[in-house]
Amino acid sequence: MRPFSPIFLTLSLFAGCGQPARPNVVVIVIDTLRADRVGPKAPAGLTPYLGKFAEGAVSFDQCHAHAPWTLPSCAAILSGVHPAEHGAGGNLEAGLHGLGQDVGTLVQPFARAGYDTHAIVNVAFLDKTFGVTRDFGGLDAVHFKTNIEVRRAGPTTQAALSWLDRERDEPFLLFVHYFDPHAVYDPPQPFRRRFAEPRDQKNQSFVFGTRKHMMALRAGQLDLNPEVIGRAEALYNGEVAYTDAEVGRLLDGLSERGLDQNSIVVITGDHGEEFLDHGGFEHGHTLYDELTHVPLMIRVPGEGAQRISDTVRHVDLAPTLCELADLAPLSSFVGRSLVGLMGGTDSQPRPVLAQGNMWGPDLTSYRTGGWKLIRAGDGREELYDLASDPHEQRDLAGNDGGNRARLAEQLDLALRGMAALGGSNQVEVTPQLQSWLEALGYAGESQ
Ligand SMILES: [Zn+2]
Repeated sequence: MRPFSPIFLTLSLFAGCGQPARPNVVVIVIDTLRADRVGPKAPAGLTPYLGKFAEGAVSFDQCHAHAPWTLPSCAAILSGVHPAEHGAGGNLEAGLHGLGQDVGTLVQPFARAGYDTHAIVNVAFLDKTFGVTRDFGGLDAVHFKTNIEVRRAGPTTQAALSWLDRERDEPFLLFVHYFDPHAVYDPPQPFRRRFAEPRDQKNQSFVFGTRKHMMALRAGQLDLNPEVIGRAEALYNGEVAYTDAEVGRLLDGLSERGLDQNSIVVITGDHGEEFLDHGGFEHGHTLYDELTHVPLMIRVPGEGAQRISDTVRHVDLAPTLCELADLAPLSSFVGRSLVGLMGGTDSQPRPVLAQGNMWGPDLTSYRTGGWKLIRAGDGREELYDLASDPHEQRDLAGNDGGNRARLAEQLDLALRGMAALGGSNQVEVTPQLQSWLEALGYAGESQ
């Protein structure tokens, strides 16, 4: 494999320009995008633009979010730390919290290096209220009181293209959030016709995921029969296809402006969506893979396409982008840059810690070595062998005491490490704890 070398950015792209310029960075987060809607296993014709993008990008087939809903997950992407540390999240019963006052974000090293930084977002969780986007120089936030009213993908792409045409300096860091696959599902034509109407010809104005639906869902009173959820999923697919086309229009817009040659582009999702995978619907309520497994693709100009099956995490993104842009990462970032993995020089595993339901039981999960342990606040545990049971249908917690104990111990260490780092409790850093901290990136040479 040819070594992956971001040094090309200074050697080739900007030769003859005096001072080597830094690359632009575009981070696209598609809300509520399940991993299985993108890539070779996606339904035919659903996401052709993302498929085309993948032909020139590194695709990570096993990228995992750290939370199953927007606020804590996007905060992990931008802060480079886990929900327990960045503090953004909470739940519907106990209340919601914004990003901790002292938490740094990916935007800071870019802004310090002179980048023009701008975010375009479409949900209140990403507005200044919760602090997640507070470090961007410009913030274009549009949101309404209900999810029915939303700035759709088309106007979102238009906002991004307008910013590129009228306002930006270079280099720039542009964050674009698309909300459309999130409920309410109401895809515009021709996407409704193509994906939803074949099974729903009798009611062509059917929408799903309204506030009324969600209130009933959380009260346990929503009719979750497969027919209803099947219709909902068809609408969801229409929204995904529409968003795919609009992301494609943004990518084409970068090319038309010559920006594809000096822009790193990241595309990911903040979490997935459940359609009865575990008997439920929507997101924010479990830590199964349909909610935590997300697409991740990174396009670096001059680098070829490849697929990587190693498990990676959202906290790895911030250090990756810093390395690609030749910027020093914040010392607070806990992830490990993916550049070594992309170049075939890093095979160390990346354990994934996820936590923070918006509703339903309090859950924490730990994924490593092909296993996943999910622990509820009441101590109940589930264990899954992801190699033989990738859809997490056979809970082995009751009959695989060895692996359960092993992962439970690692999860305990993770939580104790968090507590130690949070300063809320004095915790002795044993050699075992030290080793976990290093595995997750919390300790080591740079710390
Ligand atoms: Zn979301």
